[in-house]
Amino acid sequence: MTRDLLDFYTNAPLLELGLEADRIRREKHPHSTVTYIVDRNINYTNVCVADCGFCAFYRRPKHGEGYTLSFEQIGEKIEETKALGGVQILIQGGHNPYIPFEWYLDLMRYIKRNHPIHIHGFSPSEVDFFAKTFRMDAVDVIRELQKAGLDSIPGGGGEILVQRVRDIVAPKKAGADRWLEIMEMAHNEGMKTSVTMMYGIGETLAERIEHLQRVREVQRRTGGFTAFITWPLQPENTPEMSHMPKTDAVEYLRTVAISRIVLDNVPNLQSSWVTMGMKVGQMALTFGCNDFGSLMIEENVVSAANTTYRTTTDELERLIRDAGFTPARRRQDYSIIPADTPAAA
Ligand code: SF4
Repeated sequence: MTRDLLDFYTNAPLLELGLEADRIRREKHPHSTVTYIVDRNINYTNVCVADCGFCAFYRRPKHGEGYTLSFEQIGEKIEETKALGGVQILIQGGHNPYIPFEWYLDLMRYIKRNHPIHIHGFSPSEVDFFAKTFRMDAVDVIRELQKAGLDSIPGGGGEILVQRVRDIVAPKKAGADRWLEIMEMAHNEGMKTSVTMMYGIGETLAERIEHLQRVREVQRRTGGFTAFITWPLQPENTPEMSHMPKTDAVEYLRTVAISRIVLDNVPNLQSSWVTMGMKVGQMALTFGCNDFGSLMIEENVVSAANTTYRTTTDELERLIRDAGFTPARRRQDYSIIPADTPAAA
């Protein structure tokens, strides 16, 4: 099976891959709706000790540009988000050794009490970092965060879930097995999560297929992944990977298509126009994607590598229509928000 998939990914004509992915997408989403979400990425701290070679965002402890946001600053960002029709925050940060666990719990409670909104936060790498730093079981970290207000977990920090690759690009971060184990724990605690793949970091095509199959296997057991998102490395400004070649649009579309084909048990695939630009983002809708991702009000990590594409809901909806689909705003759980609800301008 692996060999067939690898052969298909490597050798099939682009349009054949696309047609098969589109067939699966239409089976799962027979209507012509393409969804998107209005949300905000809040990077609560950029201080990090993980030193990932591909990361342009983090600063080492004591670096003059290091920051940690206050609860009030985070609250303000949430209010701005809600005023623009945003329905969730994506809250992630570096592995900051100076923040105590209580801070995270207090933050969840503070948000739910003062600025209630869906909190999609803390990738498995952060959960693993908390578990190690605070000498807790990862499942207790998840339970405590959930009790304090965390609603769902993002699939950040997955990159390529094959240990050989992680040993090279992110050796200090949760390993491949651990990353998936934490996702499975979260699913078993009743939490939904998303899952990602960042490619172009020195992995082979076979390792990309292995990543997808490992995700598929967890999904077979838990059904807890709501969506899959893939994008290529943005090498500009990264500490150790600026020499890496930028992968092209064809490779992106092939990768989206094979992801849709392998992950036939994951309901939603998001197009990554933030990294690929609008045109390619639109094309991805006929290569397996049924979701246009988010109209993100702030995205520090990608924009730190100079690849931010910003837009507005009107423009986003026009792009979806021009690609032949009907746009619909959604919540984190993919339920649709009625069209007459005010949105970002
Ligand atoms: S990707 Fe995340 S964990 Fe890695 S260095 Fe950047 S902020 Fe730290």
